[in-house]
Amino acid sequence: MNIQDIDKTFVAGTYARFPVVLTEGKGSIVYDDTGKEYIDLGTGIAVNTFGIADTEWADAVSAQLTKLQHVSNLYYTDPCALLAKALCERTGFKKVFFGNSGAEANECAIKVARKYAAEKKGEDYYTIITLQQSFHGRTLTTLSATGQDHFHKLFQPLTPGFVHTPANDFETLKKNVKENKTAAVMLECVQGEGGVMTLEDDFVKKTAELCKKEDVLLIVDEVQTGNGRTGKLYAYMHFGIMPDIITTAKGLGGGLPIGAAMLGEKVENVLGPGDHGSTFGGNPAACAGALNILSRIDDALLAGVEEKSRWIFEILSGSEGVEGVSGKGLMIGIKTKKPAAEVVSACREKGVLCLTAKDKVRLLPALNIPFDILKKAIGILQEACREGA
Ligand SMILES: *Cc1c(COP(=O)(O)O)cnc(C)c1O
Repeated sequence: MNIQDIDKTFVAGTYARFPVVLTEGKGSIVYDDTGKEYIDLGTGIAVNTFGIADTEWADAVSAQLTKLQHVSNLYYTDPCALLAKALCERTGFKKVFFGNSGAEANECAIKVARKYAAEKKGEDYYTIITLQQSFHGRTLTTLSATGQDHFHKLFQPLTPGFVHTPANDFETLKKNVKENKTAAVMLECVQGEGGVMTLEDDFVKKTAELCKKEDVLLIVDEVQTGNGRTGKLYAYMHFGIMPDIITTAKGLGGGLPIGAAMLGEKVENVLGPGDHGSTFGGNPAACAGALNILSRIDDALLAGVEEKSRWIFEILSGSEGVEGVSGKGLMIGIKTKKPAAEVVSACREKGVLCLTAKDKVRLLPALNIPFDILKKAIGILQEACREGA
């Protein structure tokens, strides 16, 4: 049996995989088991921030692996403490809880919001308002938070206490906050899985003001948008707001599993010993890698993200077969005339890996993708979008 058949036989069938076995790569180039070369515009869904097998990151991880790969959370280690310090210094948040995934980061945020509201307002103040078309993860609680009904069928009963409200409709959100005993509002500044949809500036600002006024926590899910992806370190920074909690994962680890819930002033001391935990959370190797990634997301890199983003928006807007371009930074959605899945297949045939998000083609290239490689890949994408191509 070949690898694809072995996988289909023995791995649970939760993924509709593309018919490609990837074996190795460097930066934004990756190879399959036939030796075919691809330009990677997907980065493992916004995970490989500096591309594949990035030397500096791999060295940071390897050095830690040969010293101490894991300890229980009953002990202190440098990488965990230093990563938390760096995250707080770069954002203004006060404390960080580390888990291993986006879903876990969101679980932590939800627990913090519920405990804060329970202590401050009463145990019946547990409702969390999230947006329609949002995506917050696959655990039963984060699935419940996710505002897409098709994920919910056959997994009932989900965790109670989530109300979904339409994005960019402030009056309805306000009504939902007031009509429910609300602990928090949770949103993605750019909805990723929901179709690479950037929330309106006014909606985000008004929501943040309302939360402050009502003493309702604002949780921003930066699992996909975080860590430089949108051209700022975190996407909330585009909106001039300060959330009470942000969560991140994907790009923070540069390829290793890590999740983080960052807690602001109001909630920094909500969690005490025994309230939450994770065996692997704050793993030294994952944190050493993340420290390296974070240290390299600087102004020069972010300026490059913005520059490449502007170029992609310009060249694709009005390109044949392209009906619209959305997103921020290097998190880009493309509404194509042809079905998105068809464009993604054509790109793969021609040596470019990209993704879909709902009915759009989605691009999440490495933040340091060289311009010449990006240009070549976008040329191939344009070709794939053309009628008859
Ligand atoms: C991917 C994603 C998640 C879930 O992250 P996992 O690491 O797969 O658990 C949650 N929220 C958003 C916005 C995401 O994009």
